[in-house]
Amino acid sequence: MTPHEQLLDKYAELTIRSGLNLRKGQQVLMTAPLEAVDLVRRITHHAYKAGASLVTTLYSDEQASLMRYTDGNSEAFDAAPSWLFNGMAEAFRDGNCARLAIIGENPALLSGQDIDKVSRANRARSVAYKPVVELITTFATNWCIISAATASHAKSVFPDLSPDAALAALWHAIFKCTRADLADPVAAWAAHNAALHARVKTLNEKRYTALAYKGPGTDFTLGLVDDHVWAGGASMAKNGIMCNPNIPSEEVFTMPHRERVDGIVRSTKPLSYQGTFIDGIQVRFEKGRIVEGSAAKGQDVFRKMIETDDGAARLGEVALVPHSSPISASGIVFNETLYDENAASHIAVGQAYSQNLAGTATMSAAEKLAAGMNTSLVHVDWMIGSGALDVDGVFKDGKREPLMRKGEWVA
Ligand code: ZN
Ligand code: ZN
Repeated sequence: MTPHEQLLDKYAELTIRSGLNLRKGQQVLMTAPLEAVDLVRRITHHAYKAGASLVTTLYSDEQASLMRYTDGNSEAFDAAPSWLFNGMAEAFRDGNCARLAIIGENPALLSGQDIDKVSRANRARSVAYKPVVELITTFATNWCIISAATASHAKSVFPDLSPDAALAALWHAIFKCTRADLADPVAAWAAHNAALHARVKTLNEKRYTALAYKGPGTDFTLGLVDDHVWAGGASMAKNGIMCNPNIPSEEVFTMPHRERVDGIVRSTKPLSYQGTFIDGIQVRFEKGRIVEGSAAKGQDVFRKMIETDDGAARLGEVALVPHSSPISASGIVFNETLYDENAASHIAVGQAYSQNLAGTATMSAAEKLAAGMNTSLVHVDWMIGSGALDVDGVFKDGKREPLMRKGEWVA
């Protein structure tokens, strides 16, 4: 094996062992870009070695995806393969099939296309995909998202390098940020998970009622739901399997109260939202809702996104990431949320995660809403952390304590 193939193999093994923690006899359903075929084969090898009963891969192809916009009937943008997504939901429901998503598409693939078509297609897809999202976010099965380097994505990250050099540089960054380049990546992830779990335990014992943020262009208070649960690192799925849903992952996160966010927030990194870039977001929250919002780049897409439904203009996630995280230290803007959200503290508009509110398994939709849990067709993370962000934890009696200073944990 070449050095690259060796790293690819370690990355594949890490994905099966630490990411999915695949159990003997489970099936695997994998989605991947065509270009990731070498990685897919390595992963398939490790999945069968770990006792997979069947590995099924669904490939996507950027060129074919684009043809819908260049050659397709403009009346047909409300179509979505609900039959496929219903089948996926059926596979995940009983926890016998693990879900692996390999991402790596060109983040700007659809940026030149008609935004009405893009938003109609996204909306139809979100509606059809909802049964899958619900099963994944409630951890019906073990799941994991990883990234593969592709030519178009590499070019967007390293525009000044030659195509080959850009691809190599992106793979290098992926292996580094995922710890796949260490001698024993599986052991490194066990130690990393232990550190994240210790942070989660401390935060859960604090019982803050709110977090207060101050930074350049940012001055806001974010109320937490009363029975919030901080989470981070490996999570226990309902099938009893401890999985790492995101590789890499540096965040600890919990649930904001959908009606208790007030003040102004400025984003600190660009985000890629379903094929286009949004950058320089500035919003003002009032009672949890975005009442004023603009973006220096991708403003139309941003506006459309927060108008998707009522919950799209409210928060569903809040996450803290130290500014010194390996991804932030790499200095690279990956143009991909899986990486960029783990480089900085962030918030997400839209759907909240059930795991961040105690007792959701037995709560009705009305009870969850009353508790402050947000629901939406979308879940979009944007980065608000930097080396200039201060965060306080606010207690029930109004007293506060410093939690992060200049982007780093105080204790
Ligand atoms: Zn997050
Ligand atoms: Zn998120």
